[in-house]
Amino acid sequence: MADRAIGSVIQLPDRIAASMLDHAAACAPLEACGLLSKDVDGRWSEFYPVSNAARSQSRFVMEPDALFLVISRVESLGGEVAGFFHSHPDGPAEPSQVDTVEWPDRTWVSFLGSLNPHSSEQLDWTLRAFELTGTSPRPMQRRLVIIESG
Ligand SMILES: [Zn+2]
Repeated sequence: MADRAIGSVIQLPDRIAASMLDHAAACAPLEACGLLSKDVDGRWSEFYPVSNAARSQSRFVMEPDALFLVISRVESLGGEVAGFFHSHPDGPAEPSQVDTVEWPDRTWVSFLGSLNPHSSEQLDWTLRAFELTGTSPRPMQRRLVIIESG
């Protein structure tokens, strides 16, 4: 299956990155969330927005029925859900302690979009990726490379 070697670079198509940050901007000031799939070849393939059932500016809970539907849809296409996204409209650019405890699946990559608080530009979001490792209680930031969509 997908190459999940620790330290690997995460290559994300630009259309998926844009889709996540557009969703974050549309939901702001509330936190936005969703799921990311990989295709049969292990490439990041799609972002699926999921409603934030918490409707909160400081936390997210993926709406359970929508979560289930996305996983079913992705698996019916032969892919797998391999990551999740959420936003921090009010910072910081790192997963919170609650985010770490409530990580939906330990094998999933966490993509986090945070709004730059020092910017006057409304759409100045920073996108980062984090992974949990077996040994560390803290998520590790991974190198995220945005590639051109094929
Ligand atoms: Zn968070």
